[in-house]
Amino acid sequence: MSKFWSPIVSRLTPYTPGEQPKIANLVKLNTNENPYGPSPRAVEAIRREIGDSLRLYPNPDAEPLKIAIAKRHELQGITTREVFVGNGSDEVLAHAFQALLKHGAPILFPDITYSFYPTYAGLYEVDYKATPLADDFTIRADDYLGHGEAIGGIIFPNPNAPTGCLMPLAGIERILQGNPGRVVIVDEAYIDFGGETAIPLVARYPNLLVVQTLSKSRSLAGLRVGFAVGHADLIDALERVKNSFNSYPLDRPAIAGATAAIEDEAYFLRTCQAVITSREKLVAQLSELGFEVLPSAANFVFARHAQHDAAKLAAGLRADGIIVRHFSHARINQFLRITIGTDVACQTLVDALKKQLA
Ligand code: PMP
Repeated sequence: MSKFWSPIVSRLTPYTPGEQPKIANLVKLNTNENPYGPSPRAVEAIRREIGDSLRLYPNPDAEPLKIAIAKRHELQGITTREVFVGNGSDEVLAHAFQALLKHGAPILFPDITYSFYPTYAGLYEVDYKATPLADDFTIRADDYLGHGEAIGGIIFPNPNAPTGCLMPLAGIERILQGNPGRVVIVDEAYIDFGGETAIPLVARYPNLLVVQTLSKSRSLAGLRVGFAVGHADLIDALERVKNSFNSYPLDRPAIAGATAAIEDEAYFLRTCQAVITSREKLVAQLSELGFEVLPSAANFVFARHAQHDAAKLAAGLRADGIIVRHFSHARINQFLRITIGTDVACQTLVDALKKQLA
């Protein structure tokens, strides 16, 4: 801390990202990356773009990408007016905190959730109330009803992170109906692994903003592309903040690669299904080893073992060259969050756990 720092930065608890190890050959199951790599069409589009036109500024509205996203949801009435894109969904969420959640009243989010939310709240001076999860670790829709304009808005991931638990669309609809005067942001970073997106609700709820990422189900974490779908009024607010921050949120390779990835529906469906199949197999294997695994609709599982300390298990796995995520928060410090890798990576993990539990 220094006298040159602004008070906001001095008070800020910065987000701690998951480890990106410098050692090669680790079995990396800690930051929910997709084991299958992006669509070959996306890789080819990026190559072409790098070869042709890096001298030129990108399209400031990332128009081709917005068109591809809108087209995918055109049956739900989505046009490019209802789509916003940003440099990873982290940036989309950051703009949303400033543009839509800052009303001088606390916002609501779950107490166990994506740890960037309290960081953005600190950065943008948005007060918040962390709302406990139910005993079974799900988010209870009832806790988010009837607050009127005493709250600044609501944000939660669906499925939640790091639990993987899904809220059915009916619960989301109740939250939207219960808060007509405030924006409800549903962060769908992991929705493509078996959940049901809230995008069809956008046409009926002008207070809904759905945020998605290409980092997980499209396997483009390194390209940094995320987007939001919502009423054009909400998108206009996000554009205002974005244009006041950086007129070119996405570079040319990102626009080209992300557009091609969105258009390659067959590859997307095939790789998501492969992850889901591996997840179901891993859940069965972990359960057999005595783990309790929360029901997951994500590309990771959240599991604990009644007889074995999670921090010790994580350290033991690490010694075997396998990294998973462990959180120190008291309510979840007996869980491991394990990203679904290839079947070979999952088997390596199961074998290492068997050895430790023996
Ligand atoms: N939301 C949630 C719930 C996440 O877990 C993540 C990934 N860390 C993100 C958003 C951000 O993803 P990205 O910035 O890579 O799009």
